[in-house]
Amino acid sequence: MFTIWQALIGLGLIVLIILFVFRIRVAKEAIILPENYREILNSYVKFYRGLPENDKEQFEKRLEQFLSSITITGVNAEVEDLDRLLIGAGAIIPVFAIRDWQYINLHEVLLYPGAFNTDYDQAGPDRNAAGMVGNGPMQHVMIITKWQLRQGFINEQSTHNTAIHEFVHLVDKMDGTMDGVPEIILERKYTAQWKQLMENTIAHMRMYGSDIDMYGATNTTEFFAVISEYFFEQPERLKENHPELYAMLVRIYKLAQ
Ligand SMILES: [Zn+2]
Repeated sequence: MFTIWQALIGLGLIVLIILFVFRIRVAKEAIILPENYREILNSYVKFYRGLPENDKEQFEKRLEQFLSSITITGVNAEVEDLDRLLIGAGAIIPVFAIRDWQYINLHEVLLYPGAFNTDYDQAGPDRNAAGMVGNGPMQHVMIITKWQLRQGFINEQSTHNTAIHEFVHLVDKMDGTMDGVPEIILERKYTAQWKQLMENTIAHMRMYGSDIDMYGATNTTEFFAVISEYFFEQPERLKENHPELYAMLVRIYKLAQ
């Protein structure tokens, strides 16, 4: 015979078991970053590796937030943990010092295995179609190739990083126009100066060549994306070779001098 107490204890146990199972399920769904994310970030993301410990935590939080807010879809390509983390890193690096930044103009990243066709790109193909910010029906979509994504982080001596390049286009686009002037983050008093500096540098590049990727001389939009790659990949080199550009980028990205 069960007493009322035994019945109550039994009922309590059942409730506890249900809560326990449910919580495990909720916890599993909430996991955004893979278990070894620190190891991956430390070995692939130079920017992250160089951060002090509390900034690393901040970076991880931002990364998790970003990855939980957008969809990454593989198109004939498997989306591996490494790819997700590198896409997230490319998103956070340019806006890391802008604490309340949200990529409200991005919903989905498509990951392609290699070069892709630019049929739906109305604004013209990006560098070797390695990455692209969508227009028209592809608004709010970014395309990036797996090979270029990884290459940008693996080769630490280069000034290239396709993911950073594409996310900088999104930062630039946030004010309504992609023109190399990110008015949403650059104080108005500097916009004329920045435009002039970009135009002068492009003219100089066309005339004499440069250690800046010549793709940057296409127009001010591409210049801003290319010089930002250089800035985040090789800050010391940029500071030495182009102090004026470096100083303006410090201003734009709100970094301490
Ligand atoms: Zn571009």
